[in-house]
Amino acid sequence: MTITIPSGTTEPFSSEDPPSLPPDSLLSNMLAPIIDDSLRVAIQNTILSELPTNAFNYRLKNAKVSEQSTILYYAVDTASIGKMVSPILNRYWNPEGIQTSSLFHIKHTFPSVEELNKLKLMKPCDSATIPKLSKLLPNAPRAYRNGIHRGVDFYIDWGTPIHAVADGIIIRADHNYNEVSPDFRQSLLNKTKKTGHTPSDIFEHILLGQSVYIDHGFNLLPGYRAVSIYAHLSHIDNTIQPGVTVKGGQLIGMSGNSGTEPATKGIRDGAHLHWELLLQNKGGESYLGQGLFYDDLFSLLNNIFSY
Ligand SMILES: [Zn+2]
Repeated sequence: MTITIPSGTTEPFSSEDPPSLPPDSLLSNMLAPIIDDSLRVAIQNTILSELPTNAFNYRLKNAKVSEQSTILYYAVDTASIGKMVSPILNRYWNPEGIQTSSLFHIKHTFPSVEELNKLKLMKPCDSATIPKLSKLLPNAPRAYRNGIHRGVDFYIDWGTPIHAVADGIIIRADHNYNEVSPDFRQSLLNKTKKTGHTPSDIFEHILLGQSVYIDHGFNLLPGYRAVSIYAHLSHIDNTIQPGVTVKGGQLIGMSGNSGTEPATKGIRDGAHLHWELLLQNKGGESYLGQGLFYDDLFSLLNNIFSY
């Protein structure tokens, strides 16, 4: 962008706020590899909310003075925008994924789609189908906690029966779960801004709410220990206790919204089951769906829960 000021201009040059380049046009190249529309829009909105508002402004780069005129050259500083955007983009979209827990630092490859398609699980809630919206699936950004969604959100009525997806042994059952105050929950979310990710203690002990974890051993997927998580429950069945063996399809509790913001205010809004499957081997830990593109992920989940 150039501005030409003819020689002899006596009016003071009024420099209002420099114009901005529409951020979409600059970000579209960087976000192009993200095929899924809703995920791309979500990540773009997150990037725009984190960049300084003047990041896309034109700045004076050069000036050429001649007898006839003075020409001012303006440009948007794409290099510095790129430096700011990359870490945010990498946080939310990286084909290799990020480590889900600070306990595991080893970079490893995830199970292949072929391996994962051998998984056969029972549905955690009878009526629910696999959600189509990518924001309800693994890998979706969760800007409010500076993290990434590891599971599947099934939006179902409050009090819907929740079942184990396969045989296993209970390793966590929060029978005595108490909701924290809204302020305390928010203070923890504020800390995630500084850490740049969701610390595992905040995620597991506060944000998941009343939860059940089931250890499926190495039986579900050869070579991997599988652990399924059922979060935001409103009730856990009395028989579900750590160390107890459960069968696939067995009732473990009822859906709710524990651990969510409405729950801290005593409101029943936003009830859903957050379900996820952790996979662990010597290489570390990943979640089911980590690193997969939307199309593969959606068909994989439908295939896994097909019976
Ligand atoms: Zn969720």
